[in-house]
Amino acid sequence: MNDCIFCRIIQGTAPARIVYQDDEVTAFHDIHPRAPIHILIVPNKHIPGVNQVAPEDVPMLGRLFLVARRLAEEMAIADGYRLVLNTGRRAGQSVFHLHVHLLGGRSFGWPPG
Ligand code: AMP
Repeated sequence: MNDCIFCRIIQGTAPARIVYQDDEVTAFHDIHPRAPIHILIVPNKHIPGVNQVAPEDVPMLGRLFLVARRLAEEMAIADGYRLVLNTGRRAGQSVFHLHVHLLGGRSFGWPPG
């Protein structure tokens, strides 16, 4: 998907501050951070969003959480962080390649806006 910015980051043809990559998952700093730590954790496979996940994606979805946990520990925010998946424009999704926001380094309110 050459028109997908996250696919280009995963392939190394668009710039990003990548903090983790394996054969299934890539993680990089959000370009407009909303917290002192704001990382995006994405599948290497192009999936537009949660509404498009399939049963065969279940192992990869688990990997997203394990990478989130690992990065939260490495970045010393494991005592309090937020994982966010915006699904659909109405919920604030702006990039249609599935991604988990890992936010930390500050306190968060509830309910979210
Ligand atoms: P969402 O609004 O949930 O779809 O989140 C998309 C996120 O991607 C936003 O927080 C953007 O700041 C971030 N973003 C968009 N383009 C880039 C990019 N080239 N590199 C890193 N983060 C990006």
